[in-house]
Amino acid sequence: MSTKKFLLQEKDIPTAWYNIVADLKNKPLPLLNPGTKQPLKAEELYPLFAKALVEQELNQTDPWIEIPEEVRDMYKNWRPTPLVRAYGLEKALDTPAHIYFKNESVSPVGSHKLNSAIAQAYYCKKEGVTNITTETGAGQWGAALSYAAKAFGLELAVYMVKISYEQKPYRRSIMQTFGAQVIASPSMSTKAGRAILTAHPTYQGSLGTAISEAVELAIQTPNCKYTLGSVLNHVMLHQTVIGLEAEKQMEMAGEYPDVVVACFGGGTNFAGIAFPFLRHKLTEGKEVRIVAAEPSSCPKLTRGEFQYDFGDEAGYTPLIPMYTLGHNFAPANIHAGGLRYHGAGSIVSQLKKDGYMQAVDIKQLDSFAAATLFAQAEGIIPAPESAHAIAAAIQEANQAKLEGKPRTILFNLSGHGLIDMAAYDQYLAGDLSNYELSEVELEKNLDQLEQIIK
Ligand SMILES: *Cc1c(COP(=O)(O)O)cnc(C)c1O
Repeated sequence: MSTKKFLLQEKDIPTAWYNIVADLKNKPLPLLNPGTKQPLKAEELYPLFAKALVEQELNQTDPWIEIPEEVRDMYKNWRPTPLVRAYGLEKALDTPAHIYFKNESVSPVGSHKLNSAIAQAYYCKKEGVTNITTETGAGQWGAALSYAAKAFGLELAVYMVKISYEQKPYRRSIMQTFGAQVIASPSMSTKAGRAILTAHPTYQGSLGTAISEAVELAIQTPNCKYTLGSVLNHVMLHQTVIGLEAEKQMEMAGEYPDVVVACFGGGTNFAGIAFPFLRHKLTEGKEVRIVAAEPSSCPKLTRGEFQYDFGDEAGYTPLIPMYTLGHNFAPANIHAGGLRYHGAGSIVSQLKKDGYMQAVDIKQLDSFAAATLFAQAEGIIPAPESAHAIAAAIQEANQAKLEGKPRTILFNLSGHGLIDMAAYDQYLAGDLSNYELSEVELEKNLDQLEQIIK
């Protein structure tokens, strides 16, 4: 066996994030003001987000955006992350494929989310903000932001999707340990929360509803900004440190990926690992396939519609051009909480529309079978979200075996699953099922989705 781990030094942490929009011929459609249906101006976003983040969000010209020294210093706590050759998994699959994974689970909070949490907290602090709000699904983003908020001296309120609040109590404890205030969503503390609780008293919550609550609180609180852990362009931007490091590490390994795979919630860990490689395709015409793995129960890329939709349930956010299942879509209670979101970010949606990427859907039981195989072969318990990327990488490896040809596969291990063992318990006991979205349900949802822009 040759080298297993490809390690970079502190000095190799990227000094700039990669803004793929600058290199796209077909720019994503603009965000729209839901009232006027006109392209959103920066000023309209300033009440909600830190200015520097708004500028990053709307930047279509600069391919490289410098990483502030304070952020890079914080990155040094866990970056660069290892790139690992998954010899154990290759052997278990008896495949001619070479499988590599970028291990983002080594961050102090266990996922890639900290890459953007640090940046967002930094810019808020720099602009004199004192309080921030956010939502969290499985609790990964909330955990990352809680640590980042504490590191930069900000007060944080987190709306946590109720089902996760109950299923994943340790993520709540983690956020509270870092000093954040955590509220189960839907809650009675906001108009949006009260409205949905009145209509559906037993509603278990969704990311869409939690976003509405966090936005409402931010707007009503002085000196307070809202932050988001996925979907938006500036979050994708921050995550590109993953792929920029992986690019160098694949060079160290002497290989170039035929295919880059990541799981897909709103698209940021996917963007993070894939965009730096897609850059080679856009600027040098290099061949590389990019594959997003989403859950069968929340299939916006494989079965959703491309159109303008709200990012949240109550309709507080700008209109986003995206593949969506409709902002009222209530996904099944799968354990990959971070993938239970109705839409995809606007950059990835445009890339999908223009044929620059593919998407596959993975059933819950297949994701846990892949996770278990990976755990036994590599000694790492993956997050239920990351398990979708593993399942898709395994499909690629099996395809290579079928064809009897080599194939170089790179996937992102977005997080570990050590706080998700209740989900593994259920899987091992045979208590998990597949929640596939029926055609009838899908149509019902898409029909309800009013054509906001014709
Ligand atoms: C949040 C999360 C995801 C999904 O979010 P993206 O923005 O699509 O990356 C995937 N994996 C883990 C571990 C997460 O915490």
